[in-house]
Amino acid sequence: MSYTKYMREANLVGGDWIAADSGKTIDVTNPATGDVIGTVPNSGRAETERAIAAAEAAFEGLASMPLLERVGLLHKLHDALMDNQATLAELLTVEQGKPLFEAKGEIAIGAAYVRWFAEEVRRAKGEIVPAPGKNRQIMVTKHPIGVVGMITPWNFPSSMLARKVGPALAAGCTVVAKPATATPYSGLAWGALCEEVGFPSGSVNILTGSAREIGGAIMDSPVVRKLTFTGSTEVGKELIRQSADTVKKVSMELGGNAPFLVFDDADVDAAVQGAIVSKYRNAGQTCVCANRMYVQAGVYDQFVGKLKAATAAMKVGDGLEDGVEQGPMIDMESLEKVEELLGDATSKGAQVVLGGGRHPKGLTFFEPTIVTGATQDMRVSKEEIFGPLAPVFKFEDEDEAIAWANDTDFGLCSYAYTRDIGRIMKLNEKLQYGMIGINSGLITTVEAPFGGVKESGLGKEGGSQGLEDYLDTKYTAVDF
Ligand code: ADP
Repeated sequence: MSYTKYMREANLVGGDWIAADSGKTIDVTNPATGDVIGTVPNSGRAETERAIAAAEAAFEGLASMPLLERVGLLHKLHDALMDNQATLAELLTVEQGKPLFEAKGEIAIGAAYVRWFAEEVRRAKGEIVPAPGKNRQIMVTKHPIGVVGMITPWNFPSSMLARKVGPALAAGCTVVAKPATATPYSGLAWGALCEEVGFPSGSVNILTGSAREIGGAIMDSPVVRKLTFTGSTEVGKELIRQSADTVKKVSMELGGNAPFLVFDDADVDAAVQGAIVSKYRNAGQTCVCANRMYVQAGVYDQFVGKLKAATAAMKVGDGLEDGVEQGPMIDMESLEKVEELLGDATSKGAQVVLGGGRHPKGLTFFEPTIVTGATQDMRVSKEEIFGPLAPVFKFEDEDEAIAWANDTDFGLCSYAYTRDIGRIMKLNEKLQYGMIGINSGLITTVEAPFGGVKESGLGKEGGSQGLEDYLDTKYTAVDF
């Protein structure tokens, strides 16, 4: 089958594709069928230490490569991703479950990140600052930070690496990456592609296996100068603690709990369309998924009716099948968490208006579900759902909605539908979120800084800020 073209059942360390030292492997399963697709090495600390040494050895060469040569390699990488979009998307769907059209989109945005950083690094300017006295020049220059450790999740196994590998290589940093165990092939494919387009051996190293061992070796190493992590807030906090011993720079893209506000003056049809994209994309398993829908009393019934009709029309199934809009969830644990949150909401008075349980397709398929009458005392108001469950809350006035929206430890993404420019400006001031979508349910783009505030993270991915995170700023005083 075509999806095997970049499917590597080995780890990339210093230019060699290797098995785990122990010879142990881990099965990788297609969540839509339950079938084992293949295996990957169960690597640990020793393999990771060799990968770090390889990245260290490759660093000088990559950092001092003529800039246009490095930029040229990145453009080739972009083209290789797009030339192989179909096969990479299929591999992604087979291991992760999302519909094929979403997987194609993920490969495309990953390629776009690589191109963006290839362009952006040509403008990684320093500055000359006027000195206070005579005969001194103050130079501020930018330098690659060194070897970068990367730990990525299963929900966007390709594009989460793109946002890290792209700026790292553009800056001249070398990479030691650990993709999530559930979805390792989309990550390993980055190694195969980087190798194919001509990045020097050791520039990109990719390991699969024990998170604690691989993560531990990365965190303990003084050679690794930065860790970039996307995943849960719980693990992120642990990694921040671990980073203290070697004073690593950290970038953290952690959990979210996005509020989705619909005001009385909203275009309700547009809001429903935005809600569908924002809620059910990747079966609700994105950190920017609408977690809580707050709808103003005047349009509440209309919004719920239209959301129900649009959601009921969604086709659930194997992501490889034509027309499927929602695939399976990643695993049983995730599905049970959704059931638990749903049970909590209904026990406190929420009403199920659509779906409400496991899908007849079995495995980890879950029905697209809507509950109304949600309230702030329910767990769905505080916890990330990460599944296809949409709780709808009713609110009366703007200040109440903003207060509820901010009543969470998270601060990643928020959404609001309104046509009142004054209110839009107020939302920009008051919503405690790193990202705000006004009249849109889908705002991720390579040109803008993606990232959260509060316990949703540190640092930005994308935009000019996304490159800055891979550069050290150096100040040199020159007296003459
Ligand atoms: P998710 O729920 O999105 O999988 P996790 O935070 O559990 O979020 O996992 C994200 C990534 O972090 C995965 O690659 C996982 O293997 C890795 N990971 C989990 N626990 C640790 C740990 N203690 N140290 C390092 N990496 C970890």
